Amino acid sequence: MTFPVQKGLRCTCCGDALDASPANFLSPQEVHCRACRLAPPRFVRAVAYGPYEGQMREAIHALKYNQIHSAARGLGLLLAKAIAQLAGQAPSEMLVIPVPLHRSRYAQRGFNQARSLAVHALKSLRKTHPDWHLTLAARTLLRQRATKSQYGLTKRQRRINVRRAFSVSDAAIVEGKNILLVDDIFTTGATARAAALTLMRAGAASVWVATLARAGHGNLNTFNSFEESSATEEHINGSGNAPELGLGTFGIHSSQDQPSF
Ligand SMILES: [Zn+2]
Repeated sequence: MTFPVQKGLRCTCCGDALDASPANFLSPQEVHCRACRLAPPRFVRAVAYGPYEGQMREAIHALKYNQIHSAARGLGLLLAKAIAQLAGQAPSEMLVIPVPLHRSRYAQRGFNQARSLAVHALKSLRKTHPDWHLTLAARTLLRQRATKSQYGLTKRQRRINVRRAFSVSDAAIVEGKNILLVDDIFTTGATARAAALTLMRAGAASVWVATLARAGHGNLNTFNSFEESSATEEHINGSGNAPELGLGTFGIHSSQDQPSF
């Protein structure tokens, strides 16, 4: 199997693909996308192994929807490679927190794929990076609200959908700690932003994000003008949170058959 890796110029914060516009360059080392410039996320940096397509997509599907657990080992090694991009930049001691599922989805799936991937990735990193102290803390972040499937939602709708979705079981566990948040797929970053915000509010020192795959925005592109106005609005109100909107306005339908990011 071949899994393509990420190529091209990328935002040094969220990892989104960039054009080489000089306006994106903060310094020779720091290049941020528009979304990260207008509403900086609370995580320091998000990395991924490769694009969510082809074999990667099939392998993640096999794990999540067909419960082929052998896929977790191979994918865990790829997640380890994604995490290794942070070596030398992220702190040498971190708590590794898989993005949790809500208990209703957990009951449906029977396992959290992010946790399985994290277990295998850490096993590999213990060998390749023995000086890096990464400790799994799987039950620290909780999904307190069952969110609708993110499939087919725009970036703004995704942010609204996951807002206040997370809580921390015990703030003492994360207080002053550097956190590595792990998940299978990074799409618009709405989930990572919401989880990082919750962890930082609970007193975390820093949050870093690693995912296996980065989904292209695909069907989100038609909403670009809408996205841009929402990003500007968030910048103006300064809170990083868009005003509350009824999700019904956008005619969102949740489907159990659609992938949930
Ligand atoms: Zn960015």
